[in-house]
Amino acid sequence: MLTWRRALVRTRLYHRIARGLRRREFEPFVQPIMDLRTGQCAGAEILMRWAHPQRGIVGPAEFIEEAERTGLIVGMSDLVMTRAAHRLAPIAVRYPDLYFSFNLTPLQLAQPQLPRRLEEIFTDDTIARDRVLLELTEREFVDPLALNRITTLQSNGWRVAIDDFGTGHSSLASLERMTIDRLKIDRAFVSTIRDETVSRPVLDSIIDLADRLRLPMIAEGVETQAQWDYLADRGVQYAQGYLIGRPMPITAFVEWLARQDQLTPSSVPAVVPGIAGDANIPDVAAQRLWNALRTPGGLDIRDRMFHLRTYTNCFVGREAVDWIVQHQRVSRADAVRMGQHLSALGLLSHVVDEHDFEDAELFYRLATPRDAGVALGPSAAGLSALLRGPQGVSVTQHTRGLLRHGDCATGKAIVTWIATSLRVSRDTATRLALQLMREGAIRHVYDDKPFTDSRALYRVV
Ligand code: C2E
Ligand code: CA
Ligand code: CA
Repeated sequence: MLTWRRALVRTRLYHRIARGLRRREFEPFVQPIMDLRTGQCAGAEILMRWAHPQRGIVGPAEFIEEAERTGLIVGMSDLVMTRAAHRLAPIAVRYPDLYFSFNLTPLQLAQPQLPRRLEEIFTDDTIARDRVLLELTEREFVDPLALNRITTLQSNGWRVAIDDFGTGHSSLASLERMTIDRLKIDRAFVSTIRDETVSRPVLDSIIDLADRLRLPMIAEGVETQAQWDYLADRGVQYAQGYLIGRPMPITAFVEWLARQDQLTPSSVPAVVPGIAGDANIPDVAAQRLWNALRTPGGLDIRDRMFHLRTYTNCFVGREAVDWIVQHQRVSRADAVRMGQHLSALGLLSHVVDEHDFEDAELFYRLATPRDAGVALGPSAAGLSALLRGPQGVSVTQHTRGLLRHGDCATGKAIVTWIATSLRVSRDTATRLALQLMREGAIRHVYDDKPFTDSRALYRVV
C-alpha cells in the first residue's frame, strides 16, 4: 500500500521533474553499439539524462518510472529526441552507416500524435527515418493494441527493435509473424557469462531463437572481454556495454568516433561539406547563421521588459523568424526549423529556459562565443579585453542634464579608440562596437539604447 510518506515523496518528485522539464534540463546521452564481427561502431542508443543544476547528471533510474506514471515522459522524450536529432545530424552525415536508436515507453506509443511528431523530428535535415531504430520492450509485442500501433509505425517506414528481450513473455509465435529489425538481449543474460555459470542455457536458447527467426541481435551490458568473445563465437552480431563505452554526451561521442577512426582506418571521408575537421558540433552552417544573427544588420538585440522585469540583451522569436525568412530566403516553416536547430545546438536559448525556439513573442538570447564554444572573428577576438585593459578606452564621470554617470565613455570615444587601436575606419570600428555590445561587453548607461557613434554614454563591462 502506498503510505502517505511515499505519496508525498512522489508528489515532490513529480513537481521536481515537471520543473526540470519546464527548464528544459533533460539531455540526450549516447552509448555506442559495436559490430562484433568488424569491431566497428554500428550505431548508438540515445539515453536520457537529467542535467540537474545542483546535482549534476542524473540517470533515468531516478525519474523515468515517475515520468511514465504521470505522463511527463511524453514531453521529456520529445525534448530529448529533438535535441538528439539536431545534434547528431552532422554525425549522421559524416558516418552514413550509423543508426540511432531511441526508447519508446508504452505511454509514448499510445500517443495519437506520435507518428506525426516522429515525422517532424526525424527528417532528411536531421536523421533520416531509415536510420532511426525505435526500441520497445517485449511487453508491447504481446499487447494487441500496442502491437497494432507498432505495425502501423512499421508500415510508415520506422524500424523497431525489441528491448530487454528475455525479461517478458513474448511468444515465439507473435514474433514470427512480424518483421523486427533487432532483438536486444537483456543485460541479465549477458551477465551470466562468467567463468562458471548457471543459467547460460537460457542465453544460448535466446541466441538460437533469434537465429531461427533471422533476427540480428544486440547483446546489452557487455562488460568483459570474455562476454564479447562468447557472444562473437555464437554469432551474435552486435554488442553494447561499458566494455565498449559508457553513455556519454554527444560531444564526447564525436571524439570517441574520431578515436575509433584512428584505430580502424576506414572508408570514412575526411571532411564532408558543412562539417569542420575536428570538433563537429555545433555544425558550421548553424554557426554561420548564428554569427549572421549577432553581427550588425542582424537581430535587434537589446534589453526587453515583460511584467516589470528586464531581460538583458535578448531578441524576439517572431522577429528572428522574420529576419531568417528575409535574409536566408527560406519559408517561415524552414526558418523556425533553423531556429530550433540553433536552440538544440545550444547556440540560442529562451531567456528563462522554458521554451525551445518558437515563432512567437517570446524572448531569446544568443549564446556568447564562449558558451557556444566558438571563436570570435579574428579582429574582434580579445577586443573586449583590450578595451577594458590598462591601455583601453578611458572611462570617466559624465554629466548629462542633472544626472551624473560614473565610469563611462561616449560612443564617439569608444569608436575613436577602436579605430586608432586597430587601425580601421570609423565605420568598421562602429560595427565592431555594435558587435561587442551584442556580446554584452558594452552597455548603454540606461541599458536601452543600441550603440551609436555619438555622445550617448556607455559602460564597458
Ligand atoms: P535500456 O533501454 O535497457 O538502456 C540500457 C541501460 O543499460 C542504460 O541505462 C545503460 O546505461 C545501461 N548499460 C549499458 N551498458 C551497460 C553495462 O555494460 N553495464 C551496466 N551495468 N549497464 C549498462 P540507463 O541509461 O540508466 O537507462 C535506463 C533505462 O531508462 C533504459 O533502459 C530505458 O528503458 C530508460 N530510458 C533511458 N533513456 C530513455 C529515453 O530517452 N526515453 C525513454 N522512454 N526511456 C529511456
Ligand atoms: Ca533501450
Ligand atoms: Ca535494454
